[in-house]
Amino acid sequence: MNIAIILSGGVGSRFGGDIPKQYVDLGGQMVIIRSMRPFAELQYVHNIIIVADESGQERIEEELLKEPQISEKILGYASPGKNRQLSIYNGLKYIEELGLKDAVENVIIHDAARPFVSEKMIEECFEALNDHDGVMPVLPMNDTVYFSRTGTRVDELLNRNTIFAGQAPEAFNYKLYLKANEALLPDKILEIKGSTEPAILYGMNIAMIKGNPGNFKITTTEDFELAKQRIL
Ligand code: C5P
Repeated sequence: MNIAIILSGGVGSRFGGDIPKQYVDLGGQMVIIRSMRPFAELQYVHNIIIVADESGQERIEEELLKEPQISEKILGYASPGKNRQLSIYNGLKYIEELGLKDAVENVIIHDAARPFVSEKMIEECFEALNDHDGVMPVLPMNDTVYFSRTGTRVDELLNRNTIFAGQAPEAFNYKLYLKANEALLPDKILEIKGSTEPAILYGMNIAMIKGNPGNFKITTTEDFELAKQRIL
């Protein structure tokens, strides 16, 4: 059994506005609904868990009344953590709390604020899991890349062929990834910046697949304007 964990526990401080970006309407559909739909469409994503606080859950539930196909796949809600990685961990623990630890083979983790994920990319993630413990879509660096300690003065030019930008969704063998996260409790997990980091630290074998620039995360109002143009 494969489960999608949709992360909707952020407050979107860089986006501003009254409501977090994932609950904003984008061309007649809430952003998070767009982000979940491809997972609901695919048969081998058996269920979805959403990480969201109570007010977020209410917003989502109201929207799901119009979306029976997505609704029937939702197993329930986990509480947000202090950072994104703790939100992921809460989602992983929720699977255990539901008594599904032995039944779940893989988890695929996606941002509620990343509404342009395609079914093809999800399929490619699962394909890579056949011979890896985890997988992450990445983008190459097209511009030259520099290292700077201060952010104001260049220290060094980096070899861009060895540097990649990570995207979501990321997929993992559930039991290994749960152990990888538990190994970082209680404090180290607070320093984690990317969901593949715990997997690498635990020695898991992680594949990189080709990401898609169109699968961007809405972080700022500029991103939201770009998202609106994309769906015209
Ligand atoms: O903050 P950022 O834009 O990087 O968040 C990426 C995704 O992770 C968003 O969908 C956000 O809702 C989620 N998140 C979360 N719990 C947190 C922080 C972020 O679920 N504590």
